[in-house]
Amino acid sequence: MNEIKSGYNFLIKENSVQVTSSTNPGINQAIWRNIWDATVPNKVRNFLWRVCKNAIPTKSNLVQRKILTEGTCDHCQASPETALHALWECPKLSVVWEEDNQWSFRRNTSFPTFQALVQHVIAEGASRKATSVNKN
Ligand SMILES: [Zn+2]
Repeated sequence: MNEIKSGYNFLIKENSVQVTSSTNPGINQAIWRNIWDATVPNKVRNFLWRVCKNAIPTKSNLVQRKILTEGTCDHCQASPETALHALWECPKLSVVWEEDNQWSFRRNTSFPTFQALVQHVIAEGASRKATSVNKN
């Protein structure tokens, strides 16, 4: 548990560096604006932002920082535990995501990163809004 905590603290510090040295500030700004505008509790906004910056203590990140030596997902034992896997792709999460049909694209769309998934969801939300406005 202490390993996880020190890894987490390390990633928090790392995150503040990454924010200023981002390679694509335009996309990050758009995502941040959407996350900031979301009507969710602050802790959800904060978590979403950290996940988009890959600054959460996933096993893959902890292996990269040499805090763990092995990064396989504990739940499926089949893939590295990245942020995208831990929150979206892991087959053990199907019971959660299959509950609501709006996430059915999970079955046939893959994303390279969690940030790409968030961009997709934001774009889908915007096009749904546009469609419902046009119907009125
Ligand atoms: Zn898994």
